[in-house]
Amino acid sequence: MFFGVFPNLRGKYKYACNDLSFDTREEKVCPACGRSYEVSSFRDEPKNFVLDGGKAYPDFLSYTGPSGNMIPFIISARTLKLFEENGISGFVNLGKVICSVKRCSAYILDEQAPEYYLLDFLGTIDFDFKEMHLKKTKTCSACGRFAWSRLRFGSVILDKSSWNGMDICRLASVPNVIVCTEKVEALARKNKLTGLIFQQEQDILSQRGL
Ligand SMILES: [Zn+2]
Repeated sequence: MFFGVFPNLRGKYKYACNDLSFDTREEKVCPACGRSYEVSSFRDEPKNFVLDGGKAYPDFLSYTGPSGNMIPFIISARTLKLFEENGISGFVNLGKVICSVKRCSAYILDEQAPEYYLLDFLGTIDFDFKEMHLKKTKTCSACGRFAWSRLRFGSVILDKSSWNGMDICRLASVPNVIVCTEKVEALARKNKLTGLIFQQEQDILSQRGL
């Protein structure tokens, strides 16, 4: 069984509202299919997230600000240690990030936030297109963009044969959706990791209103 991993956006927890290395977002047009898309650029400096919101620092820090094609996935040092000690596969540690705490309108650097790390993922899994009666249409051979054959997805069924065996995966067709195995969900439950919600496989897309 797989679970979708989503941020808990209830007011109790602090969240990252800005990435100070974010530079510009430029709109481009694919010359082959004419679809427009945005390309984000970042300044070459350590990731520095501005934190806002609630009082508690969660283990999974959600991000609400401007980003590139991928939403940053930020976890506490405690979570990283648990992942490493328990042999969770499929994640890459991109390093420690700086977290500045926003107080009023100024960015205050001295309020102590716990250590946070930025992750990326090597795991991959995709929909079971046949079981879901779903197709990609009008795929562009130049940019890879496509349209879905229908607007509403309904219940999700994942194709186990598309899974590369890792514990934490990106959903190949919707890469901002993170999917994990039961092992990760059990570890988070046992250690009461905060700031995230696990969604049953069939409901993975309901969080996104699809
Ligand atoms: Zn294209």
